[in-house]
Amino acid sequence: MTTNNERPASPATPPIELPEHGEPKISNKDRMAIPRQPIAEQPAAERVNNFFEVALGYDQKTARIEALRCIQCKKPLCIDGCPVGINIPGFIKKIAEGDFEAGIGILKQDNVLPAICGRVCPQEEQCEKVCTVGKKNPPVAIGRLERFLADWERETGKMTPIVPAASTGKKVAIVGAGPAGLTAAADLARLGHDVTIFEALHRPGGVLVYGIPEFRLPKKIVEIEVNMLKKAGVKLHNSVVIGQTIPVEELRDTYDAIFVATGAGLPYFMNIPGENLNGIYSANEYLTRVNLMRAYDFPSADTPVAKSENVAVIGGGNVAMDSARTAKRLGAKNVYNVYRRTRVEMPARLEEIHHAEEEGIQFTFLHNPIRYEGDKDGRVKKAICQVMKLGEPDASGRRRPVPTDEVLELDVDTVVVAIGNGPNPLVPRTTEGLKTKKWGNILAERSSGRTSLKGVWAGGDIVLGAATVILAMGAGRAAARSIQQYLTTGEWPEPTLDS
Ligand SMILES: Cc1cc2nc3c(=O)[nH]c(=O)nc-3n(C[C@H](O)[C@H](O)[C@H](O)COP(=O)(O)OP(=O)(O)OC[C@H]3O[C@@H](n4cnc5c(N)ncnc54)[C@H](O)[C@@H]3O)c2cc1C
Ligand code: SF4
Repeated sequence: MTTNNERPASPATPPIELPEHGEPKISNKDRMAIPRQPIAEQPAAERVNNFFEVALGYDQKTARIEALRCIQCKKPLCIDGCPVGINIPGFIKKIAEGDFEAGIGILKQDNVLPAICGRVCPQEEQCEKVCTVGKKNPPVAIGRLERFLADWERETGKMTPIVPAASTGKKVAIVGAGPAGLTAAADLARLGHDVTIFEALHRPGGVLVYGIPEFRLPKKIVEIEVNMLKKAGVKLHNSVVIGQTIPVEELRDTYDAIFVATGAGLPYFMNIPGENLNGIYSANEYLTRVNLMRAYDFPSADTPVAKSENVAVIGGGNVAMDSARTAKRLGAKNVYNVYRRTRVEMPARLEEIHHAEEEGIQFTFLHNPIRYEGDKDGRVKKAICQVMKLGEPDASGRRRPVPTDEVLELDVDTVVVAIGNGPNPLVPRTTEGLKTKKWGNILAERSSGRTSLKGVWAGGDIVLGAATVILAMGAGRAAARSIQQYLTTGEWPEPTLDS
């Protein structure tokens, strides 16, 4: 594999002597003159033929130079922009000084999964959006620096194990092994509780393994985090569907506390004619087949996905970008992204849109499928899309797509519908007394995750709807704090559920 790893960080970077320990003497003006350091990436023409990671990370020198761009604000807005309040200037300063061990220590105080967040968090909408440097220049590359530290820790074998406190004798059940469940498990194991995770799929990780593709988040990274939990004594039962194999009521008899973190894995469809033709998948099914059943590893694994030539992916979010880029890597000649608004309104991360463009995804903006047509064997062969135009802004502030009289016919043999997901319904439906919102999300107190049932907490996408990894982790952490309080005091004040 060729990489552009050797590429100089940036031709415009002024020469900077980095001492082995500590920062070089450098004024704020000089800091501002350093351009944002690019990250090495696999070239687009090459990466569309493989599932290896696209971004390759910073080397030590590039990371230290990028860290020097941080002006260590007295009022660091980046911390306010981070959903879990990471001490961003703190860890960046340590990178600039070349003290990576201290840096990762600071980072991990607030984020137990930095290798994951550094890769998938929408920093451009969070910490980097409000970074002071960003007012005049591109913001400090906070996400890339976070990833650098986490990778350094893992690659140098310096990962600190989770050390459980003396056993409390209390038993906690966690339902769902996504980022919310894994974070809560880590915090609770550290406190000395006996933690058991129940996961419906045959592999833990939630969306991190079945949804986000290998080329954005290598599965190995999630596996290492899960192994750390196991080493700390956390028990993991895969292929157990709570609400079906074991009801929550039964867990309540055995466990002192239960955290429900079952995510939002129920795919939405458009309910248009022809949507049940063969070759039309939900993005969840498509990505799960590829990620969990190793279709990406063909011919070493038997691929459970039929070979496609012309694929239409419907939707404009991260899930749509992941599906389109996956289809390209599986060998499709034409991959169309059909989105009813324009590029400006797309909810996907900018980086993902940019990568998709580089990889030759054909964006078909201002189009909305209205029906599908099939061949005599019931396989999809055409997506009939209505041409849209932009009208007045809707409640979300984005301009509303308005249908026109024109239609476009796309010849396709595969369609992936990526228009959103609802909460996994099983636990709410089978658990008496567990209050939910209109669309089935569990009602839980925002600050603690406590639900309408004593001893039951909920957090992550099952409460928030399809959200982000960092918010799910934050919810896991908040629930762990609240569970600890309950297990030590036995107090359960009435939760505020309407927040
Ligand atoms: C394709 C895709 C790409 C995404 N990209 C990004 C991104 O780039 N950045 C970002 O921040 N966010 C992204 N997200 C969103 C993010 O992944 C989620 O917000 C996050 O994973 C939610 O975490 P969670 O722990 O609440 O749920 P999940 O990750 O969904 O985990 C829930 C787990 O519970 C299990 N489960 C469900 N029901 C039961 C049951 N009855 N019994 C036992 N186990 C059960 C599920 O199998 C699953 O493993 C993406 C989502 C998708 C689908
Ligand atoms: S806002 Fe930007 S420049 Fe200021 S401390 Fe945070 S990362 Fe550094």
